[in-house]
Amino acid sequence: MYIRANRDITKLSEPFQTKVRAFLADCWENDLDIFITEAVRTKKRQEYLYASGRTRKGPIVTWTLNSVHLTGNAIDIAFQGPELYPRDLNIWHAVAGYARMHGINWGYDLWKADKPHFQEVVPAIPDPNKLIKYTMDLKFQTAVQNKLLDSIGSSLSALWNFANTKKEQDRISEIKKELLSFKD
Ligand SMILES: [Zn+2]
Repeated sequence: MYIRANRDITKLSEPFQTKVRAFLADCWENDLDIFITEAVRTKKRQEYLYASGRTRKGPIVTWTLNSVHLTGNAIDIAFQGPELYPRDLNIWHAVAGYARMHGINWGYDLWKADKPHFQEVVPAIPDPNKLIKYTMDLKFQTAVQNKLLDSIGSSLSALWNFANTKKEQDRISEIKKELLSFKD
């Protein structure tokens, strides 16, 4: 059964929604006539899209069941006019420039794919190593590191249950093994 995309900007979460409004306003003011083709996604719709190219005939259109669209922190766009998805990359770069100004990430910057996709900035994870280095004596530093590695290890074990594929599970196991090899 076909499940329709939701384009309602008011269903996006905050502060992303406010960012998107400002981003769209800037684009429109500069003759970049874009519109939202999809905003928040239900789990059902994500599963429907995920099935394309897998259990249903069609192209692969997503590589995850855990899309940022589910939390209302992403939009997909297209252009009014003759070309829904312009071939001229410069046009996309112009749009992405306004996205950046409002703290929105572009799919193509993130993955070198998915030009229509724009999403909330994923906060960088602070590097605990940098935080504790040089500020503590070596023995205490090592103890803190070991504790951190243990806790990351158990988080990864929890994450393992959410993996969509055997390949993802294997990768998580690898990362865990690699991390724990740093333990003293
Ligand atoms: Zn998207």
